[in-house]
Amino acid sequence: MWLLTLIAIAIAVGVHFWWRKKYAALEGQRVAEIETSQRRQQQTNVDAKAQQQVLFNSMIEGLLLLDRTQKIYLANRAFKNLFGLKIELRGKTILEALRLHELDDLVKRVEAEGQVFDHELKLPDLSERWLRVNAAVISNSAGEREGTILVFHDLTRLKQLERTREEFVANVSHELRTPLSLIKGYVETLLDGARNNPDVAERFLKIIERNTNRLDLLIQDLLTISALESGRMKLTLRPVDLRLLVDKVFTDLHSKAENKKIGLVNELAGLTAGADADRLDQVLANLVDNAIKYGQANGSVRVGGKKLDDGRLEISVQDDGPGIPPEALDRVFERFYRVDKARSRDQGGTGLGLSIVKHIVQAHGGEARVESEPGKGATFFFTLPEA
Ligand code: ADP
Repeated sequence: MWLLTLIAIAIAVGVHFWWRKKYAALEGQRVAEIETSQRRQQQTNVDAKAQQQVLFNSMIEGLLLLDRTQKIYLANRAFKNLFGLKIELRGKTILEALRLHELDDLVKRVEAEGQVFDHELKLPDLSERWLRVNAAVISNSAGEREGTILVFHDLTRLKQLERTREEFVANVSHELRTPLSLIKGYVETLLDGARNNPDVAERFLKIIERNTNRLDLLIQDLLTISALESGRMKLTLRPVDLRLLVDKVFTDLHSKAENKKIGLVNELAGLTAGADADRLDQVLANLVDNAIKYGQANGSVRVGGKKLDDGRLEISVQDDGPGIPPEALDRVFERFYRVDKARSRDQGGTGLGLSIVKHIVQAHGGEARVESEPGKGATFFFTLPEA
């Protein structure tokens, strides 16, 4: 019996030691596995964070994440660029980081209402920047508030376009109203009895005729501008002999030049442009017409041209009038810009001629510019491709 007990004890001790050895190996394996898994998890977290960072920084919209204490947790690159910030923002409040009370108030509104859409924010700097902010509270699955997310879109360009459009509509209305109210006034005076005096009637009818012509011109110019700006105007490019085209333009404007005793000089020879002849006619007619309108009586208007080193052609239209003041040189190509409004209107100008010139030249891949020394006339230049 004692022998059996001894054998049983020996087996039990053997099993115990075998088991301890095996368990120790297993335990070591388990610890190593846990460590590997932790390392993998850490790496995954780092990767996910890096990916998140890349994603956030590649966004065009500015992104701001606030934690539940309303401190900045994350601000992407676009956000920093929008606000011109270079400092670390993490841990700061909106007021500390941006000193923008309007944005701070917005965050409080989001807190109260859960979300705020399409809030327009004008940055209080001199750059006239506008932002659109969309914001919402972030909650976890238990419905508890974790923080706030704010997304910023730059509206500046859109606002500028809107303003340009509004100015354009205001200008057009004004330009249309001036001749219309003149026409209306003179028609009423004629109906009130002025028609009974033939001399007065004739004078008034001439004023009415001049103003209807002006309206007609204005509408034609507006239609041209609209077709050019929308890209609806298609160019038919052909070889155009510039000398012949300028001769034609001079013939069309001959009587206007004659009235002011202005000599028209065509200095072009042997240049052929690859251009749309009708549109080019319009460019030259506008420039020569201006040169006659603003040039001095008994003076001359010269059209010249040369081939540039890069192969393009450069055409010039030169007058010897009062010229253009330096501060207006960049602006004369803008729609409705005039150095002297009254003078332009007196001459029947629409304020759109040079804008049309610029658009047509650009549609040909060229550039238009002006040089002038006040008192010494103005020279308009534009480039065109050679045929
Ligand atoms: P407008 O119908 O008023 O002539 P434009 O667009 O053709 O409109 O020209 C814009 C303005 O540029 C004119 O009102 C005028 O003040 C100025 N301008 C244009 N051409 C000349 C020139 N040759 N000499 C002096 N000023 C000019």
